[in-house]
Amino acid sequence: MKLGHDPKLLSFRDKIRAYFENDYPKVILAKTASGASLTTAEVRRAEMALGERGWLASAWPEQYGGPGWSIEEQYIFDEELERAGAPTVTPMGVVYVGPVIFTFGTDEQKAQWLGGIGDGSVGWAQGYSEPEAGSDLASLQFSAVQDGDEYILNGTKIWTSAAQHADWIFLLTRTSREAKKQMGITFICCRLDQPGVTVKPIITIEGKYYLSQCDFVDVRVPVANRIGEEGKGWSYSQYLLGNERTSYARIGGKRKQLADIRAIASQIPTGGNQRLIDDSFFSGRLCEVETRLDALEITVLRVLTAVRDGGTPGDEASILKIMATDLAQAITTLFLEAAAEHGNRKFADSVSPDWTGDAAFAAPGVANYFGTRAQSIYGGTNEIQRNIIAKRVLGL
Ligand SMILES: Cc1cc2nc3c(=O)[nH]c(=O)nc-3n(C[C@H](O)[C@H](O)[C@H](O)COP(=O)(O)OP(=O)(O)OC[C@H]3O[C@@H](n4cnc5c(N)ncnc54)[C@H](O)[C@@H]3O)c2cc1C
Repeated sequence: MKLGHDPKLLSFRDKIRAYFENDYPKVILAKTASGASLTTAEVRRAEMALGERGWLASAWPEQYGGPGWSIEEQYIFDEELERAGAPTVTPMGVVYVGPVIFTFGTDEQKAQWLGGIGDGSVGWAQGYSEPEAGSDLASLQFSAVQDGDEYILNGTKIWTSAAQHADWIFLLTRTSREAKKQMGITFICCRLDQPGVTVKPIITIEGKYYLSQCDFVDVRVPVANRIGEEGKGWSYSQYLLGNERTSYARIGGKRKQLADIRAIASQIPTGGNQRLIDDSFFSGRLCEVETRLDALEITVLRVLTAVRDGGTPGDEASILKIMATDLAQAITTLFLEAAAEHGNRKFADSVSPDWTGDAAFAAPGVANYFGTRAQSIYGGTNEIQRNIIAKRVLGL
């Protein structure tokens, strides 16, 4: 796959770049750049801006409302979105549950749910983890008991991202305790605004609210909200996780962060005519991270090419997940070091008394540093990904 020289792709890139520069809501870009959290109305606005052009569900087949882009075009779109500093598309709808619905759902379910996911008007959350079931997800206890044409749901889901913005949640539930634990799991969709559901905020280390605990007490949902067969939810959940783990790469955003670090480090004085970028220890690590990003990009393109040719992300998605999240942490660590050096120099009069560098970049950078620590936990921890690679990829 070659992205750089094809005139058709270059003009596609120009079109997308011009959209983000001229037509994408500027208020959303400004708020995201400040590091502040978007409100629910702003999340909807950001996603509906893409949805009204048919670009939100950029990887969906055209028959379900996707734009019909090639893998290369999807990749360029993601790069340009990140380059522009637009918020990452909330993945729970378009990346996670949407493909499960159009792959395993009934025609009625496709008609009911895909439109609102694809146009950005309806938010979704992912209800997998429980207080006692994280890495060992198959031991989940959240129960769904059938009563006529309804299921009655009871239990707790935790670490639920973006539940405060979501209208719906897709849940892994236990419908049987007799068989092997993976066999008794059923995939059910539920509205979050119905009686018996309580969404409680969890405040993260960076002082933000994007995680919740969701409690369900005798919540009734139609059996028609079950995706696929009862007891087969585990296989749908693993299909979804393959897509989830592949989606972490975010190459464009990482390139932008590295360019920002380079620009900041080129300004911070470290004595004489030297700048931070001249420090061989700092710049050596920056180059190393840039090289790792190139390697990640090549790996992503290889996986996407395999998917285009009819494969699935499969267990190799675990390799991408580790590479992408380790790299995200290395980048935000360098950013934090640059911010710390900036602070040191600002107050070290003897080094550069007249230097008045602007420190506005530092606060979102610090929040990002903490935010990326969580990346090696969610989507299945990186230790679990290493177990998967050892067993299922290397056959050890
Ligand atoms: C920011 C964030 C967002 C999240 N969003 C969602 C969401 O939207 N929906 C959702 O359902 N969940 C979400 N999660 C939950 C996430 O998927 C779990 O936290 C994760 O799967 C780990 O489970 P746990 O927290 O129970 O840790 P545990 O499973 O208790 O693990 C604790 C530690 O033990 C290690 N460990 C456990 N088992 C093994 C093993 N067999 N071999 C080696 N090491 C092991 C783990 O790697 C980890 O270091 C989110 C988590 C975070 C931090």
